[in-house]
Amino acid sequence: MKLKDLGEFNFINRISESIRSSGRVVKGIGDDAAVLEHTKNKYLLFTTDMLIEGKHFHKRDKAELVGRKSLSCSISDIAAMGGVPRFAVISIGFPGYLDLKYADKLYKGIKKVAERFKVDLVGGDTVSSGKIVINIALTGEVEKENLILRSGAKENDAIFITGNIGGSIKSRHLNFTPRLKEARILVKNFKINSMIDISDGLLADLGHILEESDKGAVICEKAVSVSKDATGFDSAIRDGEDFELIFTLPERYADKLESMWPFKTRLSRIGRVLNGSKGFTLVRKNGKSGKINPAGFTHF
Ligand code: ADP
Ligand code: MG
Repeated sequence: MKLKDLGEFNFINRISESIRSSGRVVKGIGDDAAVLEHTKNKYLLFTTDMLIEGKHFHKRDKAELVGRKSLSCSISDIAAMGGVPRFAVISIGFPGYLDLKYADKLYKGIKKVAERFKVDLVGGDTVSSGKIVINIALTGEVEKENLILRSGAKENDAIFITGNIGGSIKSRHLNFTPRLKEARILVKNFKINSMIDISDGLLADLGHILEESDKGAVICEKAVSVSKDATGFDSAIRDGEDFELIFTLPERYADKLESMWPFKTRLSRIGRVLNGSKGFTLVRKNGKSGKINPAGFTHF
């Protein structure tokens, strides 16, 4: 059997079945970051993301933006757990012929993001490779009461997303801002039941929440704010790398959240969590509704 026949998520499930985990692992494989016992009041978060030339960025892309993206992806995962980022190690594979200027600019991008989000860069590894590869592992911390998992969605929760979705491939995937301040306001002020950041596409990532929570959902097309870069709603909900947040909270808090939302970033209430029933129902703009397959982007 080939990896592509199994699929990215089945492959990850296969790894997680045979893995050792001690009592200090609160949540291992299966969320945006691992959750580990740490101090009396806080958990340690731990995540890693890899960018590969030709896949996640191109040689023609500005090096500074590639650096920016590499750390921002990991910060977005920490934000999706409700936490704050702390320490990063950066492993780089560079071809020997690479211009030193490229490497400097890449690090300039990483350092700017680190400065802005108060991340300490504390190590890494440098190797030569045929293509440019960047892997960042990042720790974070979250107060125990503010930890949000994918698995907490409850029946009748309102489903929200931040920002506009779709078509990030045009440019936004390189210069997005991780929704850290938004996530922190959410977890400190509301009873958020589940949260994820959009890396594989709205449908697939909401699908992860529903699968982990064993729930279904109804989504309204007219409530989803589609980016001007997207080619319509149907592809926008499948496009990856929006790095927006999807979260759910009890319906009774939804109005309060909408009226207090202090950010310029758009907040959209796009649907509702349903009990038991698997998958999505989509209510189209014309009022017709139907089932929709949650497949988004996968790596194989
Ligand atoms: P995200 O898009 O939020 O970064 P992923 O879809 O990459 O999340 O990963 C989902 C889960 O699977 C995470 O818990 C991640 O740590 C885990 N995971 C992904 N790849 C591997 C791997 N090769 N070995 C072990 N765990 C993995
Ligand atoms: Mg994520």
